[in-house]
Amino acid sequence: MAHYSTGAALAIDLVNTYDVHAGEELLDSAGALADFAEEHGFGRVTSTLDDLHRVKSVRPLLREASLADDEATAVAALNDLLASASPRPRLVEEDGDWTFAFADPNGELGKQLVAEAAGQLLQEIRENGLRRFSTCDSSTCEDVFVDKSRNHSRRYCTPDVCGNREAQRAYRARRAEQADGGSD
Ligand SMILES: [Zn+2]
Repeated sequence: MAHYSTGAALAIDLVNTYDVHAGEELLDSAGALADFAEEHGFGRVTSTLDDLHRVKSVRPLLREASLADDEATAVAALNDLLASASPRPRLVEEDGDWTFAFADPNGELGKQLVAEAAGQLLQEIRENGLRRFSTCDSSTCEDVFVDKSRNHSRRYCTPDVCGNREAQRAYRARRAEQADGGSD
């Protein structure tokens, strides 16, 4: 039995396999997609180019839906995506809790990934609306993340990476300003 990532992790990670800011593609081969699936609990799977094309064609829609202005728009788009991916929704046990899985474990990998990603985003919207979806505040990153902090104060997709980088950037800018000021 495949164990999918909890929450919307698979959906968010999938959206972020394309770096919007740098124009960098992480899913650059069918093998890369199989590795992605394996890292997200699908076990050892093989991926075809059709799977890769399906996932990559849907990915911008997943991003758009998570950042949509209103829930009805996001839900309509995600319902369509879910329906297009031959889902098989069912409850599965994960870490002692029951959670919905959406993919048909016997289906094509591309459809499984799309079904699971769309289903996860729908579930997040059902539970929390769109308010927790956010994009990274870094000037060199536009990754999407789910802000689970209590007062929605999280700014960076990965505080350790993007947060640190921004802090260093601000530090260098202050240093440069002080150096400029000193030379006057
Ligand atoms: Zn970031």
